[in-house]
Amino acid sequence: MPRNVYDIIILGSGPAGLQAAIHAARARTSVLVLGKPAKSSLHRAHIENYCCMGRVAGEDLLREGIRQAEQSGTVFLHEDVVRVSHQDQWFIVQNESGTDLNCRALILAMGISRNKLRVPGEKELLGRGVSYCVDCDAGFFRGEPVAVVGNESAAASGALTMLFYASQVHLVSSQLEVSESMDHQIRTSGIRLLEGRKVTEIVGENEVDGLVLDDDSRLDVKGVFIELGAKGAVELAAELGVAMDTESPQFIATDKKQKTNIGGVYAAGDICGLPWQLAKAVGEGCVAGLEAAAYAKKFR
Ligand SMILES: Cc1cc2nc3c(=O)[nH]c(=O)nc-3n(C[C@H](O)[C@H](O)[C@H](O)COP(=O)(O)OP(=O)(O)OC[C@H]3O[C@@H](n4cnc5c(N)ncnc54)[C@H](O)[C@@H]3O)c2cc1C
Repeated sequence: MPRNVYDIIILGSGPAGLQAAIHAARARTSVLVLGKPAKSSLHRAHIENYCCMGRVAGEDLLREGIRQAEQSGTVFLHEDVVRVSHQDQWFIVQNESGTDLNCRALILAMGISRNKLRVPGEKELLGRGVSYCVDCDAGFFRGEPVAVVGNESAAASGALTMLFYASQVHLVSSQLEVSESMDHQIRTSGIRLLEGRKVTEIVGENEVDGLVLDDDSRLDVKGVFIELGAKGAVELAAELGVAMDTESPQFIATDKKQKTNIGGVYAAGDICGLPWQLAKAVGEGCVAGLEAAAYAKKFR
């Protein structure tokens, strides 16, 4: 029997990982959660579209989720995972400090990291007019002019969604790469398409006032949606041989029970694809937690 043994190890301490931990621990399995809560996407979010809750700070939700998971018996280690392997029906998880941790079932809930524009003003004005999620924040810009920045379908459909909210929608794209039908929709919908342009700066004192383009022109907007896609946790998943989604290879493929192609490995939350929303992360976490618990108990 190896040392540092748990029934289940969960990679990620965002809402997907926390909900999985709560359900798995309550199903009487030993659960370890790895990851840094302050790096969860939820930490920076203000949520107002989550069922049965009013507007709430994501940071507060995370604190309460950790408390619930600890109360159910979950153990936390606020470190990242650097390696994962599989040997003799054990999964071996190595953390940043080099310790090997062993388990029967693994849940991958590492979220995604959104691609950044990397221009002045982006970091400073995040949450004050700069957003990475049209689905989350569209409602804050009712009647205001906005810009959506990006080249692919996420940016194009984000711009189309914003037509229902904003007074004017600019789509800034260095090179639009969308299907023919979406291209037609964009060009005929009333969106102002600025093709072949790049954003060089987002400006504003305490909130966004506008943005500057690479031809030195300025757009007066109150919101900037950066829709440049995201990177998933491809490397760790690839080490285990976990299959990725064939249509969106940055995301992990699962079935309805959140199972991956590898027995005993489950995935939940943003890492499994769109929509990147709290409600989906929590729902998938619940399923993954229950399924992983049932799987791990077979080894007793
Ligand atoms: C600014 C902003 C606003 C948002 N607003 C809304 C909203 O209004 N409504 C809504 O429904 N959703 C909103 N979201 C989206 C929501 O926050 C995410 O969908 C949700 O947090 C996804 O949960 P997750 O657990 O899958 O991933 P995350 O919450 O991102 O958590 C991932 C976890 O994995 C950990 N991790 C990463 N790599 C490793 C590793 N190698 N080893 C161990 N741990 C690792 C991270 O540290 C983190 O703890 C918003 C997101 C942002 C960024």
